[in-house]
Amino acid sequence: MRYVISGAAGFIGSHICDRLVDEGHEIVALDNLITGHRDNIAHLTGKSGFEFVEQDICKPFSVTGKVDRVFHLASLASPVDYLNHPIETLESGSTGTRNMLELARAHDAAFLLTSTSECYGDPLEHPQRETYWGNVNPVGLRSCYDESKRYAEAMTMASHRVYGIRTNIARIFNTYGPRMALNDGRVVPAFIDQALRGQNLTVFGQGSQTRSFCFVSDLVDGLLRLSESPERYPVNLGNPVEMTILEFAERIRTRFGNAVGIEYRPLPSDDPKIRQPDISKAKTILGWEPVVPLDEGLTVTIDYFKNKISAEPAGASLCSSDRKPAERIGVL
Ligand code: UDP
Repeated sequence: MRYVISGAAGFIGSHICDRLVDEGHEIVALDNLITGHRDNIAHLTGKSGFEFVEQDICKPFSVTGKVDRVFHLASLASPVDYLNHPIETLESGSTGTRNMLELARAHDAAFLLTSTSECYGDPLEHPQRETYWGNVNPVGLRSCYDESKRYAEAMTMASHRVYGIRTNIARIFNTYGPRMALNDGRVVPAFIDQALRGQNLTVFGQGSQTRSFCFVSDLVDGLLRLSESPERYPVNLGNPVEMTILEFAERIRTRFGNAVGIEYRPLPSDDPKIRQPDISKAKTILGWEPVVPLDEGLTVTIDYFKNKISAEPAGASLCSSDRKPAERIGVL
């Protein structure tokens, strides 16, 4: 089949490309490289059937030739990135989703939206099932991401209802693995990066907030299964093993022989207090559940970051602790 994938040079997008190229499919890989990196797909360049196009999917574009599947992954997924680029984040969820849906419609292709557990906001239901409507602050700092994805889901459902496009919606929970950007500010790369550099781990708040971490190969498997399913309503994809951020920090410290300490920092606004996917639906309709234990996934991820850091040119540190949301006019 021939796939068009937005956000193909990003963390999850690049892993999907790997799987599909291995399976002998053709890919038109789109990315505007705002947070994606050429490095993530460099090994695919020149492989038969793989084509990279530097493209902002919020601007008009077309793809020639047949298209069987359209996957829309382009988005700024890390809180630090979407706080730095709130307008671009809203645009990729709104105009970007519309353009990718139009592409699917023009080619009579099936469409997959990668949505997010952020649709549940700071949830009042636990664990989160797909039927929960969420608790999102529509005007808070995180709203640029949460509301863009909620809009993207609504646009996807409307496009299915009005045009009959075969659509799928994945609600992705915290995912980790090689090719996350070292300095993207999310907790997995941040803690590993800090531990590798001998710095204290920056725990936000008291670290009592919970998350559930899914290894990227498990997620890719879930996404590909979902893309072949007739299910039109959202499906949670994530690992249900939940822990507090402090427990996660301790896990990382242990991996590094407790050589680093913990430094507490203020909790960002609207940071969800709990998050755990209920994956009963994915288990039932896709026969899917994660198989990679956290310790195994962390070994691979730590190795990846170790190599990245050792390849850094001297003085060009991309240390995650240096990342801060941009100063904004009229900050509230
Ligand atoms: N977090 C933290 N220290 C960091 C980065 C993140 O304690 O250096 C916390 C953050 O406040 C959140 C959790 O870890 O509660 C997961 O954050 P992440 O940015 O990875 O993703 P989120 O789940 O918030 O989208």
